[in-house]
Amino acid sequence: MTLQVHAITADVGGARILDEVTFAAPVGQVTALVGPNGAGKSTLLRVLAGTQKATQGGVNFEGIDLLSMPRKQRARTLALVEQDVHSEFSLTVRQAVELGRTPHQSAFSWGNEHDEAAVDAAMQRADALEFSHRQLGTLSGGERQRVQLARALAQEPRLLLLDEPTNHLDVRAQLRTLSLLRDLADTGITVVAALHDLNLAAEFCDHVVVLTGGRIAACGETTATLSAELIGTTYGVSADVLTHPRSGRPLIAFSR
Ligand code: ADP
Ligand code: MG
Repeated sequence: MTLQVHAITADVGGARILDEVTFAAPVGQVTALVGPNGAGKSTLLRVLAGTQKATQGGVNFEGIDLLSMPRKQRARTLALVEQDVHSEFSLTVRQAVELGRTPHQSAFSWGNEHDEAAVDAAMQRADALEFSHRQLGTLSGGERQRVQLARALAQEPRLLLLDEPTNHLDVRAQLRTLSLLRDLADTGITVVAALHDLNLAAEFCDHVVVLTGGRIAACGETTATLSAELIGTTYGVSADVLTHPRSGRPLIAFSR
């Protein structure tokens, strides 16, 4: 089973941002979406999440067409963690995470036991419990990032999309976030994360999709895909791909 993205084209403000983007991402694995600034990563994630309209193309997940799915069903299926969301500053952290339960609630069932348990579990997994009573507006960028992740987990999605989830995080928190994404994939969740750090992608992700100028440059299993040549042409840098002495994963060394 795969997440199948077929010939997605997206135009924003008269400009073609995504051009016939086609790739498959394995279900229950972590896929890194990489590429230079302006490549279209955020736009692609928003198209997958249904918050940005595609001009053409389709997305199939677990046999269902994501783009024509009713909004509420889509919100029960997938969650998008966007970068730098500046909203709802007066909510407490817990209230913000509780919003993740909205797609699962009806007018007649508000806040049942499972909702409470899902919120608790999500805050625990995302390391957000320690500031659950703080107001969102008082948190640091990294703390707010953990709250966004907790809210997405409270949604209990089967497809989790993240836009630069390690932005603002120190190195330990980056490693924790990527480890968490791996654990989530091990429970069957399909994870697609836009990442800038190619070494985090190489170490933690099973699969990689390389986007440049709104087009797919490469897509496949991480070790087979992240070649020095591809990195060189995609980013215009000089790189060597070594082997990590502990993990055996690709280790990318950049040079002047
Ligand atoms: P990435 O996340 O890979 O950095 P984005 O998806 O944010 O790339 O942006 C891709 C391209 O689309 C960029 O060139 C950006 O300037 C352009 N773009 C994004 N949003 C808009 C918009 N609302 N109007 C015009 N151009 C946009
Ligand atoms: Mg972006």
